[in-house]
Amino acid sequence: MPRDRSAAVIGTDGLDALIRVLAAGGRTVIGPTVRDGAIVLAEIAGGDELPYGWGVELEAGHYRLRPRDDGAAFAHSAGPQSWKTYLHPQRERQWTADRGADGAMTVTEDDTPPSSYAFLGVRPCDLRAIAVQDRVLSGGPHTDSRYRARRERAFLVAVECTEPGATCFCTSMGAGPAAEPGYDLALTEVVDAGGHRFWARAGSEEGAAVLAELPRRPTDGATETTARERVAEAADRMGRTMPEVDLRLLMRDTLQAERWNDVASRCLTCGNCTMACPTCFCTTAEDVTDLTGDHAERWRRWESCFDLEFSHLPGGPVRASGHSRYRQWATHKLGTWYDQFGSSGCVGCGRCIVWCPVGIDITEEAHALNEERAAGTAQGEAPS
Ligand code: SF4
Ligand code: SF4
Repeated sequence: MPRDRSAAVIGTDGLDALIRVLAAGGRTVIGPTVRDGAIVLAEIAGGDELPYGWGVELEAGHYRLRPRDDGAAFAHSAGPQSWKTYLHPQRERQWTADRGADGAMTVTEDDTPPSSYAFLGVRPCDLRAIAVQDRVLSGGPHTDSRYRARRERAFLVAVECTEPGATCFCTSMGAGPAAEPGYDLALTEVVDAGGHRFWARAGSEEGAAVLAELPRRPTDGATETTARERVAEAADRMGRTMPEVDLRLLMRDTLQAERWNDVASRCLTCGNCTMACPTCFCTTAEDVTDLTGDHAERWRRWESCFDLEFSHLPGGPVRASGHSRYRQWATHKLGTWYDQFGSSGCVGCGRCIVWCPVGIDITEEAHALNEERAAGTAQGEAPS
């Protein structure tokens, strides 16, 4: 097979150079780093800030760092944050209003220039999540212009998964562990007797230009073969799976299932799952004024469908019970998202499982609903 001319092998010095090249190009480089007992996403200035030698231990409602002997930088699965923290920030000012000497209010749209980010270490599930948010926030007639501006400037370095976590199920959602197109550069980490290295491929002209600036050597067969094998093995080591059924139909067929009462008895409606989810995008607006009443601001902030106010209409919240709020979230993620946006809203990253304080597991709920449907006790409402 002819070698891809946009592929190369880089070492850890190449990774360090990658961060410097991206920063020299005016980008804020965001990557994984160890902070406060977790692998978080933060601005990084050099390769020494990457989590070399750290892995993670994940379970429902459980997250721990664990040291690794191999010194790998990316042998960890999705952490508490996702890239939406940067592309679709948690809180953002929309406009300010000021009263002039004549008493008239002047409204000024916030025009802070969008940051140019380089994201280093985008897992394939998160690459899919970014594609999902692209469709939601800039794929239709009503575009979020600030999201689009940040997205157009972003440089994505995907890192394929070789170490899935116990809560990962990207394979069930067709979102990993290999990187799909959409990246500027893709890396696959290999640590073996041949050394610590990364099989690198460019996915865009910009990616090829950056790769050309790094210390590198041509792709060799052993590195490429090992990299491909590690990713293929990762696909067989997912900690979780979804039932192998059409999840969209499963959600439709189980709207009246008893299982929703069961999960509602455990759910705290805290909304952690929606905050951690890389595709959840809902926001609300907050207006604030100073004490004089001469200055006002409108802020947009993340909102959760678990919040009682989220469905507040005249007369009160439409979804007042925990039952209806969890069901809304799960059926939207796995079912009605297809109707709205043409894909699943879940990419199988497992964050909602790990960061749920009571360990509610969306895969376990889907399996339980599937069993209830098979037993013939979960009657759905036919969609109108
Ligand atoms: S499922 Fe878990 S994280 Fe989500 S709202 Fe309920 S208790 Fe909170
Ligand atoms: S629903 Fe859960 S597993 Fe699916 S994308 Fe959101 S956080 Fe990840």
